[in-house]
Amino acid sequence: MVNPKEYYDAYNLCRNLINQEEILPNLDFESFKRYVSRENWMPIPLKYELVEKKQDITNSKRPHICIVLEKNTIAFDIFYNGTQSVKNFMNILEKESLTEKREFINVLKLLDERFSYHLLYCEKFFSAAPEWETEIEGKCENLTDEKIEQLLNKIKEVLQKREFRQSIIPNSHIASLGMAIADVTVNKNDSIAIKDALQNVIDIFKVCTKIKSFSEINKIRKEDEKQIKVRKCPDCSKVFEYNTARTICPKCIVEIEKSTIKKKDYDLLKREDKVLS
Ligand SMILES: [Zn+2]
Repeated sequence: MVNPKEYYDAYNLCRNLINQEEILPNLDFESFKRYVSRENWMPIPLKYELVEKKQDITNSKRPHICIVLEKNTIAFDIFYNGTQSVKNFMNILEKESLTEKREFINVLKLLDERFSYHLLYCEKFFSAAPEWETEIEGKCENLTDEKIEQLLNKIKEVLQKREFRQSIIPNSHIASLGMAIADVTVNKNDSIAIKDALQNVIDIFKVCTKIKSFSEINKIRKEDEKQIKVRKCPDCSKVFEYNTARTICPKCIVEIEKSTIKKKDYDLLKREDKVLS
């Protein structure tokens, strides 16, 4: 039998060890117990995400921190539940996510053999609970940039395999993915170990929540394609501010003309100081 009170006590111990209200929000027992699964795990709701029930957390495209209590141990991980949320994580490979990818690799490299990762797969009736099978797993020790790149590529392959399976299995079934990052188990009575493990999980979680969604990436792309009014030299194609006082290209001594360029190209030229005023 899962005892929500034990989870509540463990949760409050974590809150006392790590004072981060936005990640480990203050919850009264009545609200808290709705989140404890009968299957013996608990997703932590975010303070600023309006959640009514456990499913609101687990159906989200965003990851959550999960707690699992056993007789002598407490375990944490960052969990991506469902294909959409794993796909969302994989936006880290898009060129718009270079900053987030760098940050993710840097925090992941700090982990040691206490931590592990798992990519899980299942095919099930639409409404059934998932019975996960492990596709990829490993310990987070001695991770290098290269190993993390390889891991991300492997996840991509499993996603492609899932797409294919989904296209051939009966309509009543779904092929689903789940992913746990920084899975760590420590002694329930060792406060120092709990604090250290959970702090690592939180550091990675913060980076994970920064990974851009599809709509955020599309917005950036649309913005980049926008046309900006400029003036251009017809001979050397040098770009000038639209409001420039110049009328002649100083290099070619020809008249500059009204033109437009994509915002992303304009921003790049600007950054390199190649737009003349
Ligand atoms: Zn010119």
